[in-house]
Order: sequence, then C-alpha cells, then structure tokens
Amino acid sequence: MTTRFHPASSPDFVPAPQLRELQSQRLRAVVRRVYDQTKLYRNRINEAGLRPESIESIDDIAQLPFTVKSDLRDTYPFGLFASPMDEIVRLHASSGTTGKPIVVAYNRHDVEIWAEVIERALVSFGLHEGDILQNSYGYGLFTGGLGLHYGGERLGATVIPTSGGNTDRQIMIMKDFGVSAICCTPSYFLHILDRAAEIGVDLRSLPLRAGIFGAEPWTDAMRQHIEQAADIKAYDIYGLTEIIGPGVGAECHCQNGIHIFEDHFYPEIIDPNTGQPLPDGETGELVLTTLSKQAMPILRFRTRDVTSLVSEPCPCGRTIRRIHRISHRTDDMIIIRGCNVFPSQIETALLEVEGALPHYQIILTRSRGLDQMEVQIEVNAQILSDRIGAMEELQARFAKQIEHIIGLHVVVTLAEPRTLPRSEGKLRRVMDQRNL
Ligand code: ADP
Ligand code: ZN
Repeated sequence: MTTRFHPASSPDFVPAPQLRELQSQRLRAVVRRVYDQTKLYRNRINEAGLRPESIESIDDIAQLPFTVKSDLRDTYPFGLFASPMDEIVRLHASSGTTGKPIVVAYNRHDVEIWAEVIERALVSFGLHEGDILQNSYGYGLFTGGLGLHYGGERLGATVIPTSGGNTDRQIMIMKDFGVSAICCTPSYFLHILDRAAEIGVDLRSLPLRAGIFGAEPWTDAMRQHIEQAADIKAYDIYGLTEIIGPGVGAECHCQNGIHIFEDHFYPEIIDPNTGQPLPDGETGELVLTTLSKQAMPILRFRTRDVTSLVSEPCPCGRTIRRIHRISHRTDDMIIIRGCNVFPSQIETALLEVEGALPHYQIILTRSRGLDQMEVQIEVNAQILSDRIGAMEELQARFAKQIEHIIGLHVVVTLAEPRTLPRSEGKLRRVMDQRNL
C-alpha cells in the first residue's frame, strides 16, 4: 500500500485553526449568498431573527435553520438555485420515491469542486495516475456516474464509463482492460462476484486491487467478505445528491471511518428528536452544510443518515474529521415489537455464521396484530443437501446469532444460491408488508 503524499490531498492536511478560519470565511459568504438569492432561505433566516451578518464564524452555525428533503420538493424545480440559470452547467435529479424528484444544480465552479473532492477520495484510497478505473455506478440523472467520472479524469486515471448493468460485459472489460479499481454499490459488486464465479472468472487472479463502494449502507463483515472473495481492498465513499453527490467523504487507507471533506461540507451531529447538536462520539443524525457550492448551496441539511463524529485523530495524519460508517438511515429503522432494529445489525449477525452467503432479505409481516420478522438468507447449496438435520441446525444458528445482537427471535429461512433479488444499483433489502 502506497501512502506517498499526493498534492491533491493538501487540503486534507491543513492545520485545524487554519481550516476553521477557512470554514468561517466560507460560511459567511454562503449565508450572504442564499439570503440574497433565494426566497426560502431569506424567509427562514428572517424568521430565526437573524441577519446574514449575525453569522460571524463557523461556531455560529447552529443558529441557522435546518433544511429538509421536503424543502427541495416544495421548491421544485428551481426554487433553491442561487445562480442565474445561464451560469448553470449541469442538473441532476434524485429518484423521488413519492411524487416529484428533487433537482440539484451545478455551475462551473461547483463541478470543479466535485471533481476535486472525488480526486481527493481516490487519492486517499491509494489510487493515482495510471490506474484503470471501471465506473459501474449508473450514468444519467443519478449523481454516481458522472460524479466519479470527472474526479477520476482529474486524477489522471483511465476512466471506463461502463455504468451499471450488462454484468457479463463488465466482467469481460475488467479482465481484458486490466482494470485496477472499480466503483459501484457494494450490492452490485456482490452480483458481479457471483456472476464471475458462474462464468469461470476468478477476480482474485485479475489486476483489480481496489473497490470503491457507497450509495448504500454496508458493514465491516461485508467488507471482509468482499476483500477475501476478490482479493482487493474495499473502501467506503459517502455522499448524497442534495449536498453534491458522491465525494462528501471517503475512507483513507486506514479504513477506520469516513473523512469528511469539511473545507467544502461542514458536518454536525444532532439528536434527531430535539435537533440539538451532540458532542463528538455520540450517535445521531448527520447534518451537512455546503460551504463553497454556488449554484445551489444548502444550509444544515438533515441527511437522516445515522453516525457519529470520531474525536481521535486518524493515523493517516489527515486533519479533516471522520465520521463512523453510516449504520442506517432514520427512515430505515425497523420498529418491531417495541424494539429498534436496523438492517446492518442483521447483516453483521448473518455473516458471522459459517455457510452464509452475503445475500439476504428482511420481510416484515403482521398476523393477528403481531409483527413478525423473517430473514431469508442464501447459503451454500451443499449445506442444504448435506445431511438430514443440517438445515435446521444452521437455521437455529442464524436465529441465535440474530437474537444475540437484536434481542428478538426472528424466523430464518434458508434460500438456495442465486434466488434472492439482485441489484445493479441500490438494493432494497427490507420488504415491509405489515400494512398491506
Ligand atoms: P436517494 O435518497 O434517492 O437514495 P442519493 O442517491 O443521493 O439519493 O443517496 C444518498 C443516500 O445514500 C445517503 O443519504 C445515504 O443514505 C446513502 N449512502 C450514500 N453513501 C453511503 C455510504 N457510503 N454508506 C451508507 N449509506 C450511503
Ligand atoms: Zn485517515
């Protein structure tokens, strides 16, 4: 693993006081900009009894109002733009599950920032000029494709824009072009791994050495599985459309939390119920403010992603702070028989049991007023046919492991390999059928 210094990373190592000064300066400018350019923020800032000049330093950030996803829907399509339309060079949109999608805008300066933070992310994964990067995130309105693309080019890597899907062709390209790094959702990579095995390609024998995975939660147990199965290093990259897309933060080679590029995106953790800021180390909802974006700056966006800020400095020497990996979204929390459960707990439990394959699905049902959770997991075909009683034993082992972690007894069903749903992008693992 090379940890040689790359000049693109310099902003990751700026001494803390200097970083705070830059953040304060940028916050003042962004507050002024949204106040002057957008009705929603002007009203919100006035309603909070503030003036733009009331915000003097980054320490004043908690006085500012929050922005929530519905603010972006309510101002659809262009209501939060803070640049004139003829300066905007790109629009993206995020899949609104209900009703209208949300639209985000970038001017020339913003697409530069985006490429910059992606380049910094790639450098922190140990990539460099000469790497061959297969970008299997979806190209199009989704931010993953183009977001990673321009950062890869900026680094000087050779970017192959495969986008998602057509898995056999993905594998052929990976092999024939000597791909050294791939970007996609972790669930799509699992699918690629399966398909490669099916058609007799062993990813471990290829030059592939890094996987850049994000856009959905995944666990350290999943990381271990992927790293062993493909003989690569698997890195976490985080981002969301409202803030910029991928590249809000990324792991470094230490793989111990996501460094936030906080000279551009300022992180806070709040108590999701009270909205009060929480100290470092406490788990809550991540709130992000764009400090430098111009076409569509966002103040204190409530991401609904649950994590905490790490207070210890990272051995890599970066001064920008880290968050722990995202454990779940507040709206992914499963409340069952009075207990709070999130899918990553189930993933961790399952992958601890030998014979488990990394494909699972959680189904919630209600019968006679009682909630039931069923966990379906794919297991090695051999185990299913091995000997009488082996299946029941394995089921019991899964159930016990899950109960140990979540404190609830659930129904475990074993599935044959390649029978549960796969995804070329984000995978929905929870089917809530309680209100059907
Ligand atoms: P959508 O809200 O439609 O999924 P995005 O494509 O912008 O829109 O997805 C952003 C969300 O994806 C984040 O808010 C977060 O919940 C999730 N996400 C992105 N990267 C990661 C990651 N590395 N780990 C966990 N979750 C992630
Ligand atoms: Zn680090």
